Amino acid sequence: MTELVQILRDKRDLPDKGLVELLETDNQSLVEELKECARETAIESFGKEVFLRGLIEWSNVCRNDCLYCGIRCSNANIQRYTLTREQILSCCELAYSSGIRTFVLQGGENPSSAQNLVPVVAEIHASWPDSAITLSLGELPFDLYEKLRIAGADRYLLRHETANPVHYAMLHPITMGQGTRLKCLYQLRELCYQTGMGMMVGSPFQKTEYLVEDIRLIQMFRPEMIGIGPFIPHKDTKFADFPAGSAELTMRLYSILRLMLPKANIPSTTALSSILPDGRIKGILAGANVIMPNFTPPQYRDAYSLYEGKSADPLEEVQKELSAEGYFTRPNRGDYNN
Ligand code: SAH
Repeated sequence: MTELVQILRDKRDLPDKGLVELLETDNQSLVEELKECARETAIESFGKEVFLRGLIEWSNVCRNDCLYCGIRCSNANIQRYTLTREQILSCCELAYSSGIRTFVLQGGENPSSAQNLVPVVAEIHASWPDSAITLSLGELPFDLYEKLRIAGADRYLLRHETANPVHYAMLHPITMGQGTRLKCLYQLRELCYQTGMGMMVGSPFQKTEYLVEDIRLIQMFRPEMIGIGPFIPHKDTKFADFPAGSAELTMRLYSILRLMLPKANIPSTTALSSILPDGRIKGILAGANVIMPNFTPPQYRDAYSLYEGKSADPLEEVQKELSAEGYFTRPNRGDYNN
C-alpha cells in the first residue's frame, strides 16, 4: 500500500502536504487505493449495511440569501411552500412503511415557522418511537434548538459550508457571519444532538488549501455526521455561470474523512448522484455509509430547488444498486455508535 494511504489509515491523520497530494493527484492507482482502504474501513465499522434516511423537504421559505442556493430569499422565480403537519406526518408514514427509521426534516432558515415544528416533532416522536428525527433548519436561537431537542429531535445537520472565513464571506451576504454558524454547531453539541457538519466541494473561489482547512475543522469538531456534496450551479443565483464541483474530488473527501473518522455517518449525497451517474453507489464504494431517499410529496420537489437537476434517490433504485454490490439496508435508526 502507498505510504500516504497507510499513514492516513493507521494514524487517522496526515500532514497538510499529504492531504493536498491526495486531493490533487492524477495518479489513478493511488486514488483507487485510497477509496478501497476507505471502503474497507467503512465495512469494519458498519459491515455491509447502509443506513437509510428519509428526506422530507419541509419548506423552501428562507430568510437568508446565500449566493449559491436556489431557495435564497431574493429568488422570485420559485413558488414558496411549507408542508402542513398532516403532510409531514403522511411523509413519515410512507417512509416508515418503506422501512425507514430516520426522518430528516430539512428546510430554509425560518425561525418563526420552525417554532411550529416543535409540536410536530413531538408527534412524530410519539407516533414512531423507534425512529430517529434529524433536523436541518439552519441557524436558530438556542432556546428553539433546545425545545426541538426536548420534543424528540435526535440529530441536527448544519453544514459549515467552508472553514475559511474569507471564503465564507464570498459565498454569503454580509449579514451572515461564519462565527454564528460555528457557534450554532457548538450549541447543538451542547444540547447532545448528534451533530453534522460539512461543505460543498468546488464552490466558487474554493482552493485545495480551503478543503484542507475544512478537513482540519471536521477533525477538530469530530461530528457524528459529515455531509459533503459538490456545488451545482442554479440559474437564479449569482453563481449561475460557475462550473459544478467535481464528483471525483467529493469522493476523495469521503475516503479521507472515513479514514480519519471511521465511525462517522457519511452520506453519499443527493448532489453527488445528481452530477454523476451511479454516484450514489460510487459514494458508498468510496467510504460513505448513508443514503437519503426523498420522501417529499412529489408536487413540491421542484420548488425545493437548492440546485438544478436534483436527483430523488428513489428507494427501490437505491436498494437494487446496493444489493448488486453486496450491501444491504434494514429498518434501523443507524445512530452514531462510538
Ligand atoms: N437552511 C438549512 C438547510 C440548507 S440546504 C441550512 O442552512 O443548513 C442544505 C445544504 O444544501 C446546504 O447546507 C448547502 O451545503 C447545500 N446547497 C445549497 N445550495 C447548493 C448548491 N447550489 N449546490 C450544492 N449544494 C447546495
